Amino acid sequence: MTTPYDDNEHHSYAEGCSLSSFYSLALLDLDGVIYRGHDAVPYAIESLRHASQQMSLRYVTNNPSRSCDDVAQHITHLGLPVQPSHVMTSADAVALALQQRIPASAPVLVVGSSTLQQRIYEAGYEIVHSAADHPVAVVEGWFPQIGWSDLAQAAFALEQGALYFITNRDLTLPQEQGLAPGNGSLVQTVVTASGVEPLVSAGKPEPTLYRLCCRQYSSSLDRCRVLAVGDRLDTDILAANRGGYDSLCVLTGVTRFSDVLHASRDQRPTYVSADLRGLMTLRACLTPTYNHTDTSVEVSYGETCAHYEMTSQHITLYHGNEVRESQFTGEEMTCVCYLSWYLSDHHIAASYKGLRGVECV
Ligand SMILES: [Mg+2]
Repeated sequence: MTTPYDDNEHHSYAEGCSLSSFYSLALLDLDGVIYRGHDAVPYAIESLRHASQQMSLRYVTNNPSRSCDDVAQHITHLGLPVQPSHVMTSADAVALALQQRIPASAPVLVVGSSTLQQRIYEAGYEIVHSAADHPVAVVEGWFPQIGWSDLAQAAFALEQGALYFITNRDLTLPQEQGLAPGNGSLVQTVVTASGVEPLVSAGKPEPTLYRLCCRQYSSSLDRCRVLAVGDRLDTDILAANRGGYDSLCVLTGVTRFSDVLHASRDQRPTYVSADLRGLMTLRACLTPTYNHTDTSVEVSYGETCAHYEMTSQHITLYHGNEVRESQFTGEEMTCVCYLSWYLSDHHIAASYKGLRGVECV
């Protein structure tokens, strides 16, 4: 029995060309995708230089602590020239959210970098620094110097009835040495103290940033031609799914291949790749086809086939006639993911023991 599983109807006409030639616009996350701390992620810069000859690139980050100029300079310094107007941060999205709910000129307590404060000021608000100034809203966004007294003022203001706006909920922030606490971790401490939950989280996984970028790029852009690219399932990929965009998950940041295999339904990317070379090597719009019998489940995706045997619960991956066990291509990883998600949705247990490099239980 061949089972139609996902709705890929709108893709059928473009099967075979690379992601960079099919999609008109890539919305790229930064941390863990292009750089990690100050350093470039392997293959990122050369891949994007190549991709930019075929598609437009925009840079979308949940990090509100740096200005668009700083981000553009950073990437340019790494070897990829970027204009500040091609960068969108969660500071832009939180300013917009504030304008939709809080009257202009109202006092707002900003716990955030001078960049975030400037952005909120430009949006038309009076910036205050203490709960004693009776702010009507608190805006919180991570910055490296954030301290206990900042978080305390935020909690005091919320306890007095201020509305809580945050730039993003990322729990961790990838650095050269490892994962550091992100804004979401700090927000949790304020929520624990004040008992007040954020009214708005402006960054990903909400699709606001993607929508702002697309609108700025072109009013007539077909959503099917937009590819969100990120390293986090719970922000970048979830935002893509909420906004109705295709997505590529790269494994250069916080997400391991095993995480993608076990992703919940709303956090599954369209494509998986070890790194940004996937923009050129992965073929766009391949449709997985499913063959589910009494003894096996098989998924065909491009030239790859992932076979699951009911009796042994083992998965075998084939590229053509060749059995693949390690160093998977993007197409192979994506194919195994489609099989894994199918098995999970049908409550079928699987063993990934034959697939080396897949750190699975
Ligand atoms: Mg990231």
